[in-house]
Amino acid sequence: MKAMMIEKPNTCHLVEIDKPVPEAGWALIRVKAAAVCATDLELIGGSIGKQYPIIPGHEWSGIVEAVGSAKDEGWVGRRVVGSNDVVCLTCTECRSGRWRNCDSFREIGFKANGAYAECLVVPVYALSELPECISFVQGALIEPLAVAIGTAEKVDLKLGETVVIMGAGSIGLNMLAVAKAAGARRIIVTALSEKRLGFAREMGAFATFAMEGRDIANLIHDALEGYPDVVMEATGIEDCVQLAFAIARKNGKVAIAGFGRDEDIRIHIDDIHIKNLNVHGSGNNWNLVSKALNLLKDGILSTEKMATHFFRLDEYEKALTMTKTRPDGFIKAVFLF
Ligand SMILES: [Zn+2]
Ligand SMILES: [Zn+2]
Repeated sequence: MKAMMIEKPNTCHLVEIDKPVPEAGWALIRVKAAAVCATDLELIGGSIGKQYPIIPGHEWSGIVEAVGSAKDEGWVGRRVVGSNDVVCLTCTECRSGRWRNCDSFREIGFKANGAYAECLVVPVYALSELPECISFVQGALIEPLAVAIGTAEKVDLKLGETVVIMGAGSIGLNMLAVAKAAGARRIIVTALSEKRLGFAREMGAFATFAMEGRDIANLIHDALEGYPDVVMEATGIEDCVQLAFAIARKNGKVAIAGFGRDEDIRIHIDDIHIKNLNVHGSGNNWNLVSKALNLLKDGILSTEKMATHFFRLDEYEKALTMTKTRPDGFIKAVFLF
């Protein structure tokens, strides 16, 4: 099968390798769609994962082609998406539903081979059936949607709360969709530049502000007639993280959902201390694939329009370059198989 392999940081190749054989409890998935995440660029660049060679790709959908145990035969031929968590299922953390805390946790697409390939293997326990009404492309976008749902749950987003979302990339826009569905009001989206804020306005943001060197704290305050109840920081950029703590209202809630690229950044801790902020770490999605699926199935959420550019796997350089440079009109690149 064809796969895009990262041999070592900043060295990728399209390779022809043997199809993996699913062990007992695992399934071989024929990938139908795999979306490119900005985090994949970090994996290629060497700031995350750090285990090579590796096939990236953690946003995927496909069809079960084979299984490793006779008891799982019922999955063969079914359209699926899945969690990327490879865990032991037996430790205290796993048994409490906190798979990500498992000592043997490995994430598909980071420490186990992912979906930039014609096939990948995933644990059967991680699979969810993709109903016919949800396309493979939409299925591949469920992972970032689940991250946004997880963020809303971690901050306990409530009906009528005001929200500032920092970042208009895929995660920021998914957060906007989720915050709207959850009944937040006056949702403001900020980004470093104006580039992708048009999408946020189309999706119903109350206001959008490009930072572009401006002091936007006052603009946000005026638009909300106060400071926000909730700030969801989805950039991991120092200026944005500092601003998140600065603008949250007293006792407000801040979700840190952006990857910090393995770097140290400065924060003004008195913003947290004096205002008694509630700060939530919000990386990854925690077993929320099924919830995301159900919300899409019932039309509560729709995020398919975030897939803006489509590629064959052998065009991976083009897809990665676009993800990095984000030309006008671009949100997300998706490989179709
Ligand atoms: Zn991702
Ligand atoms: Zn475990």
